[in-house]
Parts: sequence; C-alpha cells; structure tokens
Amino acid sequence: MSATPVSSAPRSFQSLQAVLFDMDGTLVETEELWGEAMDELAARLGGRFSDAGRQQTVGASMRVAMQVLYADLGLTRDDEQLRTDAQWVEERTAALMTSRGMPWRPGARELLLSVGAAGLATALVTTTPRRIAALVIDSITTDLGRTPFDVTVCGDEVPARKPDPAPYLQAMSALGVEPGACVVIEDSQVGVVAGLAAGAAVLGVPSLQPLQAGGSLTLRESLAGLGVADLVALVDVRAGVSPPA
Ligand SMILES: [Mg+2]
Repeated sequence: MSATPVSSAPRSFQSLQAVLFDMDGTLVETEELWGEAMDELAARLGGRFSDAGRQQTVGASMRVAMQVLYADLGLTRDDEQLRTDAQWVEERTAALMTSRGMPWRPGARELLLSVGAAGLATALVTTTPRRIAALVIDSITTDLGRTPFDVTVCGDEVPARKPDPAPYLQAMSALGVEPGACVVIEDSQVGVVAGLAAGAAVLGVPSLQPLQAGGSLTLRESLAGLGVADLVALVDVRAGVSPPA
C-alpha cells in the first residue's frame, strides 16, 4: 500500500474525520471504459456481453468480472485463459484512459476540494490495480496541482477485495481514524456493501448500476451541490446526534 503522510491540518469536525472515495464511476467517468474493454473482449471471444451481465461487473474484481462474462457468453475458460483475458481488459482500459481522458463525475472535483479545505483526511480506495489506478491518480493530481489523497489503496494491495471490508479497513487504519468517523462514497453495490461492513456511513451515488437502499446507506443521484456539511450530517445521523436547531 502506498501511504503518504496524513495532513497535520486540524480536523474541523469532531464527528467526521475522514472521507474515503471509490475511484471508477465515483470520482471519474471510467466505468464506461472498463465496459467498452469488456465488450471488445466479448467480441474477440465470439460473443456479445449483455447489458445485464455488464451491470453485474460494476465495481467487481477482474476475476469476478471474467466469471460473469464467461457465464453470460456460455463459455468455459481455464485459469490461465482467465488471467490472459483479464490482463487484456486491463491493458485495453489503460489505453482507453490514456486516449480518451478521465473526466470527473459531476460534483466530484468540487467535493474533493471542499473535503481537503475542511482539513478532513481523505483516501482513495479502489479495486483497480495500482498500475492502472496510477493513471487516474496522476490525472487528478495534475488537474488539482497536488495529490488530494492522504492514502491510496488499490485492488492488488489488499487481502480481499470489495465487497469484503478489508480495503476500507486498511485505509482507515492507515489514516488512523475509526470507522464511525468516516464517510465512504461509492457507485457500486459491492463498494456499498464493503463500506457498510467496514462500519462507515456510506453515500451511494449510482453510475451504471442501481443501488439497493438499506443500513447506513444514503443515496444521491450525483455529487453535484454536495458539501462537507452534508457528509457531517451522514455521520451524525448514524451516531444519533441531533442536527442543530
Ligand atoms: Mg466504482
């Protein structure tokens, strides 16, 4: 795991200490690129990936995504073929990211800047492997003129992937914060489940996959117009703190 030093800026809000962001489909419009690469692989394998199948792979690890694709196409592939296919999709997605760019999701840039300005700790927690996530992190860093993340955790740096809570717990541990003082922001069901299992308040902002309401999950259509006070409220509501009169 790559962990840069946590900001020494004072925490402005006692209840909320850290905001942990998913990457693909939450901060940047890259879920579509993963989907395009999967569609191209399906065509190479002689089939067409159904929309329902594609939706199931949002936020999933490459192994799970490949298994969904094979089932969708009615194919049987061995482990070595799966690794080759997964690597092809990763390389293709990386090429698409480089050629097409990685635009922000609506409101994501503004929220990330607001969270940093409030002195809150931030983490990027993605299932995407480091070498590909680095393309997005570099793009964000270039756009903002600095890295906005105190900690970044990638899919090849954790003992288990989302929906397991391990990636979020690893990031919280690196930040030195308790789950109850964290908001997780996610676009996928596996990410929402991981955040809830880690013990955080979760804000779900769906991209390509509908999200099921429940637990400490708050759903929003987009991050546009969302501020730090809204995130503080999520933690306070969960802790049973009454909003100011
Ligand atoms: Mg995502």
